[in-house]
Amino acid sequence: MSASQQVIIVGAGHAGGSAAALLRQHGWKGGITLIGAEPQLPYQRPPLSKTWLKGEETGEALQLRSARFYKDNGITVHLSTAVDGIDRKARTAATSRGEKLSYDYLILATGSRNRPLPVRGAQLNGVLELRSAADADCLQAALQPGTKLAVVGGGFIGLEVAASARALGAEATVIEREERLLPRVVCAELSSYFAQRHHEAGVELMLGATVVGVEGCAGRVVAIMLADGRRLPCDVALVGIGAVADDRLAQAAGLACDNGVAVDLEARSSDDRIFAIGDCSRRPLPFYNAEFRLESVPNALEQANQAARAICSKPAPAPEVPWFWSDQYDIRLQIAGLPFGSVRIAIRGSPDSGKFAVFHQAEDDRIVAVEAVNMPQAMAIGKLLIAKGKAVSSEQLADEAFPLKDLAR
Ligand code: FAD
Repeated sequence: MSASQQVIIVGAGHAGGSAAALLRQHGWKGGITLIGAEPQLPYQRPPLSKTWLKGEETGEALQLRSARFYKDNGITVHLSTAVDGIDRKARTAATSRGEKLSYDYLILATGSRNRPLPVRGAQLNGVLELRSAADADCLQAALQPGTKLAVVGGGFIGLEVAASARALGAEATVIEREERLLPRVVCAELSSYFAQRHHEAGVELMLGATVVGVEGCAGRVVAIMLADGRRLPCDVALVGIGAVADDRLAQAAGLACDNGVAVDLEARSSDDRIFAIGDCSRRPLPFYNAEFRLESVPNALEQANQAARAICSKPAPAPEVPWFWSDQYDIRLQIAGLPFGSVRIAIRGSPDSGKFAVFHQAEDDRIVAVEAVNMPQAMAIGKLLIAKGKAVSSEQLADEAFPLKDLAR
């Protein structure tokens, strides 16, 4: 590697910011230019629906690294700047400021975009979404004691916002199209547990309810209309119905994409000078013999490391078991693995005690995923066992008297 070589990172979010730091950590001596469309230095999004929204964190608490860090490490940062196009032949990236920057390697870290609510009235004032710090500030300002909040979508972001809204004294109703909460991401037992806890906290749940329109008055939302004719009055609505990969640049540049930029275990795209990391990529999952698009901080960090190592000509890191967390009320949910090939579950602890874990097992007794509620040890050992691919007995998993750490030996 020569000091004149240039890496351009497109997207200054969790993955992009981390890749810049990891390149230096792995010994990259050339230039690093980090280009981000948002006005802030790379920051963490998880608090936006949790502590930040509740006002428990303020100021620079979200920031991943200080401005000083980028300066000290020779990382050039262009904020409020978008990359509009990539010329793969000339190896240049065109920015919204009219510049054309040359690269030897380019890392796409453009994240994901919220799926828009495809109904009439979705553009009215007071219909909000949550992805950026600016969105969170807007939502926070709208959530006053007594505000009627309608949350469209009972996924992680919607439920975290409902929990935070209750803490702020707002009234919250969650509308979910499927018959249970978190339908695509947790098992039915967990869905029931979260429904119970939200109910106890005073959140109204409307399950099996499809939104068909948003009613407005003087340009502002006043109600959500449901397919069965019901009308839910509200002061503000938060749409949280999932996200799609922001792979538009990659598609326009002719890279292989399929619900995200297709990459290998070095985060390398179909062009060996271009890498894609974080929410915008679709990656192999070695423990599952599958490809998948993940939306999580641990994934953004893992792929940032893969790309940085590959660019610095270091061997690929050992693959990690995917994991994720969500905080709602006093519940810390941690999920490791994915329930691909799950044929049975073993439950350790009990939902009534507020501490339990659901282990998902394959036909051959291997653990493929664990969902742990306030049980960090079950999550940690489950994650280890997924990586080991070791068969374990369901009875021992479910038996609280049997030490889990004995299974990991
Ligand atoms: P992002 O962090 O989204 O960054 C992408 C950046 O690229 C953005 O700043 C975008 O503006 C910029 N960009 C896009 N296109 C361009 C362009 N053409 N030019 C320049 N810049 C561009 N994960 C967890 O593991 N646990 C949680 O509890 C959790 N909670 C979350 C709560 C919320 C409210 C949200 C929104 C996400 C949460 N996540 C959580 C997911 C996690 O934050 C993401 O998986 C992670 O941020 C992905 O990092 P990324 O860098 O791929 O994308």
